[in-house]
Formats: sequence, structure tokens, C-alpha cells
Amino acid sequence: MAGKKSEFNKRKILETARAALKHGNLCDHCLGRQFARVSTGMTNDERGRIVRSFLSVPEKSGKCPVCGNIFAKLPEYADNATSLLKKLEYSTFLVGTKLSSGLISEEESLWEDIGIEYCESIKSELNRELGKLIYDRVKKDHDLGNPDVVVILNLDKERIELEIRPLFVRGEYMKLVRGIPQTKWDKYEETVEGIIAAPFMKATGGDSHSLHASGREDIDARCLDGRPFVLEIGNPKKRGIDLESMAASINKTKKVRVLNLSFTARREVAKVKGMRPDKSYRALVEFSRPVTNIEKLGKLKGAVVEQRTPNRVAHRRADKVRKRKVLDLSWKRINNKNFELLIKGEAGLYIKELVSGDDGRSVPSVASLLGIEAKVTELDVTKIWK
Ligand SMILES: [Zn+2]
Repeated sequence: MAGKKSEFNKRKILETARAALKHGNLCDHCLGRQFARVSTGMTNDERGRIVRSFLSVPEKSGKCPVCGNIFAKLPEYADNATSLLKKLEYSTFLVGTKLSSGLISEEESLWEDIGIEYCESIKSELNRELGKLIYDRVKKDHDLGNPDVVVILNLDKERIELEIRPLFVRGEYMKLVRGIPQTKWDKYEETVEGIIAAPFMKATGGDSHSLHASGREDIDARCLDGRPFVLEIGNPKKRGIDLESMAASINKTKKVRVLNLSFTARREVAKVKGMRPDKSYRALVEFSRPVTNIEKLGKLKGAVVEQRTPNRVAHRRADKVRKRKVLDLSWKRINNKNFELLIKGEAGLYIKELVSGDDGRSVPSVASLLGIEAKVTELDVTKIWK
């Protein structure tokens, strides 16, 4: 059986090689690559050389009609990549090739003549061969799935480019003061994102950041429990940063506090953004006249509230009705016009609108049940039921 198979392989290899050589005198790499899948355990270069001597085709001289002798230039590209990589801190890399349009059409026209049944693409050979050369120089590991940096051989521009993967840090934040939006908004200079990102930008030398969080509190609300987030830093030159000192520097602001920082990967972004935790709030409520029937609020416990998109956010969100449950509710009298409400609600329940009724857009509401105008004067997220 083995004999038959190798007989078949030999015939197939010689047939393919003869057809390929009709296209011109290919270099050993380009010749061997056309039957890479027939015989394994060799480089394409070695395959090409053996078959060439077998067919008594003379040594290749001059320019290969397919690759233009690109393989001879790989050591130089590997040196370039190495000197660029030296400026970075990373532990894994991957090589990718952007072919020039000339190379793509040369390869395609060759395949039209000989078929593609047994060949490997030039792109995959370039990635592998350049990867080996770079590995010999930097001694860092390849990582196909989640490399810290991708070395790109750009053959249109004939140069090496680096694509540094973003750095992802997971954590939870608390917002201890009012008046700061979570992310860039309107005229606000300071944001939760900016405060958290500042020490990371300095330590990593990154050039951009974004904060992916599980929901957001209103600008004028505090968040007194840890809200899960993933911070993404673009183009970090350093990755091995000390998360404890990042946290210390953020917490010193007394405006935002972070907890449980850890390094993570992009997949956490969707996970954090997809979380729908219930939340508890403390709301200070001011009524337009003295309240004598506060116990009527007991009806809100367990009630499903229909909330049309609030007036205050209607300009940036689609107008629709959502149904959310009030899971728990209790109150404390401060004076006859001011009460503190403790409310636990399903994810997405609008608290200010639950209190005011939002001109009938939120039903039922604190105001409609008591028959008195009501508004939230202070709001805190006190617990995120993660
Ligand atoms: Zn070639």
C-alpha cells in the first residue's frame, strides 16, 4: 500500500512540476509550493530543489516569474520586524501578509495552468517562513488566536508594519460624585472613562481608549456599588503594567474608585455589555405638597411599569414602550414633602420617570398613585445585583 501511495505521489509531483515549469522557470519555493500537499515533512524550498534535479531542470537564475524572488528578501524583512518589535513590550506575535496585486495575479495565472489541488498559497508560505525567521531572532511565541502584536508584511508598500492589539482590563467602578458622565458627552470635560483611563494611557503609552460598561448611571447620579466594565487601550507600547498602582492612582481622585482590576481579552466586552443585572437605588423625592397617603406606594411593589422612552433621552433613543418590574420598594419620611425611597428594579427601569410619571409616559408612577407631583432630587445606585 505504502509503495503504491508513494508511486502515486511521485507521479503527481512530477506531473505538477512539469506543468508549473511551463509557466516559466520558477524559484524552488514557488515550484515546491505547487505540490506542498502531496508530500509533507519538507519545506517548499526543499521540495522544489529535489524535483528540479529529478527533472534535470537547471538551477534557477534571474527573477522568479511568480514571486519576484521575495523569499530571498525575507531575512531582511525579519531584521526590520525585529528592530520594530524591540521598541515594544509583548509576549506573543503572529505574522500576516498583505500581498501586492501583482503577486496575486501571478499566482492566479499559474493556478489556471496547473490547478490548485495540491498547492499551498504563497500567503501562507510567506507567513510561515517569515514567522520562523522572526522567531529565531526574538524568541517569542506565536499565538494564532490572540497575539499581542501582528507583524504585517505589506508587499504593496514593501515594508513591515506592526498592528498592536489593544490591551483589555476588566474591573468594576464606583462613581462617588455627581455631575460626571460615564463617557464623553456634550460640554463635560471630565468623564468616568477619562479618570479611569488616565493612568493607563501614561503607563502603556497607548494612543486611544474606550470604556465598555454594563449600563450607565445618569450624569447627576452616583454609583455606590461596583459597576462592571472593560477598559480598552489602543496601541499600547507596554502591556506589563501594575494594576494595583493603576487602581491607587484612580482612587486618589476621590471621584471614581475601581475594584478587582484584571487583564482580560476582547470577548469580555460583549459579556460585560450583555449583562442585565437588577439594581437598587436610593432616591430623594420632593413632592409639590404635603403627603398624607404615602402608604399607597405599597402598590408599586411587584408592579410592572410601562415606560415610554423618557422625554429627556427621546432625542437620542428610539421611542418605544418597555415593561419593567419594580422588585421592591420602601420609603422613609424626611418631612411632609420630602421622602427617601429605596427601590429595587429590573434592569432598565427608569427611576426618575417611575417617580414623576414623565407626563403620563410612565405608568403607574409615584406621582400618579399619590395624585401629587413628585420629582427626584438626588439619585444613587446602591447595589448592582451582579
Ligand atoms: Zn518564486
